[in-house]
Amino acid sequence: MFEQTLRFPCPSCKEIISDSAEQCKYCGAPIDKGVAQAAAEVQSKVNQAYSDASYLKTAAFTLWGVLAASIIPFIAFISYASIFIFFTLIFLIIRWQLRFSNINTADPDYQKAKRSKNIALLLWAASIPGFIFREIFFLILRNSFN
Ligand SMILES: [Zn+2]
Repeated sequence: MFEQTLRFPCPSCKEIISDSAEQCKYCGAPIDKGVAQAAAEVQSKVNQAYSDASYLKTAAFTLWGVLAASIIPFIAFISYASIFIFFTLIFLIIRWQLRFSNINTADPDYQKAKRSKNIALLLWAASIPGFIFREIFFLILRNSFN
């Protein structure tokens, strides 16, 4: 049976090691299988939190890009795209919060992931007045043509 190797920081020296080793190859500390398994699980959760948060940040910037582009009138598809991204983004932010907000780790990547998620949330919230501004802009535009 193929056994998956997980990587995690050594409990004593913090170097990244594999959980299949009997002892740390950097500091020689013995590795308890249970501890290694738990640490590896935390590590893979942190990695997932990190890549998901980077994705959230990218999606938030995309929301703003699409919102700005939708100022160009008569391209309804971009306008729909901005609304779609708006709702998808808040759904994904809430999901991130539920899955990853309580990881007990000192990993600096986890702090970076939290920061990325907060930036995404801020950009999302700030897009609400952006949407209102866009509607006012369209209203003025329509009235000036009538
Ligand atoms: Zn070590």
